[in-house]
Amino acid sequence: MKEQQFASDNYAGVCPEAWQAMQEANQGSAMAYGDDEWTELASNGFRTLFGIDCEVFFVFNGTAANSLALASLCQSYHSVICSSTAHIETDECGAPEFFSNGSKLLIAPSHEGKLTPDAIRTLVLSRTDIHFPKPRVVTITQPTETGLVYTADEIKAISDVCKTYHLKLHMDGARFAHACEFLQCDPADITWKVGVDVLCFGGTKNGMAVGEAVLFFDKHLAEDFDYRCKQSGQLASKMRFLSAPWVGMLKNDAWLTNARRANESARYLAEQIKDIPNVELMFPVQANGVFLKAPEKVLDGLRERGWRFYTFIGGGARFMFAWDAQRSRIDTLVQDIKECSTLI
Ligand SMILES: *Cc1c(COP(=O)(O)O)cnc(C)c1O
Repeated sequence: MKEQQFASDNYAGVCPEAWQAMQEANQGSAMAYGDDEWTELASNGFRTLFGIDCEVFFVFNGTAANSLALASLCQSYHSVICSSTAHIETDECGAPEFFSNGSKLLIAPSHEGKLTPDAIRTLVLSRTDIHFPKPRVVTITQPTETGLVYTADEIKAISDVCKTYHLKLHMDGARFAHACEFLQCDPADITWKVGVDVLCFGGTKNGMAVGEAVLFFDKHLAEDFDYRCKQSGQLASKMRFLSAPWVGMLKNDAWLTNARRANESARYLAEQIKDIPNVELMFPVQANGVFLKAPEKVLDGLRERGWRFYTFIGGGARFMFAWDAQRSRIDTLVQDIKECSTLI
């Protein structure tokens, strides 16, 4: 593919900071299965960043991170409350149910992606009898699959409901960096300080080749998680190559700089197209995604001009930006949207 596309933020390559750290880790030999210095450094880096002594694990991808984290919070007869747009519901091929040996996902209807305290309460109270899987976990995606960011207060309100009903709170942070950038807050402010028990912190969409970190803020919940990773094929033997890039990402806040470039690209596109007729934003642009509602002919026009995008959320065209988004390419997209907008 010659020209840059914005169909997904995982179209991007590896950012220099992650690449450089991989190269530095590629010196000589190191202990296997996470007993190496890089893994220690990366784990401590997360503890410093979050200001808490948490348990940290490195897995290959987000599906594994989410599924194994949820499985560790559930028995097979439990259920997990999530939004209808949640990646664990729509894009993980049943992995959360599989790895939890059958914990059911309870889906809260949501148009714009967010889960609310009311929706959680409704689901919890809908059935309390022995015949229904017992709610045990709530999971929220930060930012949502629709690019919306939960504020600290919103998360706190959700965790208050969780406490009332003895539910654990999990956060799918495939784009966690982008949420922190938008809110201009410390990672702790939207996680353990407001009641999040486990966070899956995405590396791939933030500029790494591969890898997500699973952070257990309540260390007791991490019991035997290493066995879970091993059994599911997620324990890297050359772990240093999963952990070292994080050292590069955490140093000098590269993770945040990457997220800023991605978010700014999304805001730029949103700003440039706001006055174009027949084209509307489906959601406010807060993180690194822009969802456009436009007549099918307009979208077809963009496709004919070679643009790739997904339309799986509400039929709108999704454009996602990564650390490497080129401004000139966004300008070309804007121009094409302008020209195609009259195709109705
Ligand atoms: C990309 C993504 C993931 C992780 O997906 P993998 O392809 O398994 O790495 C998880 N949650 C959300 C919201 C995502 O967008």
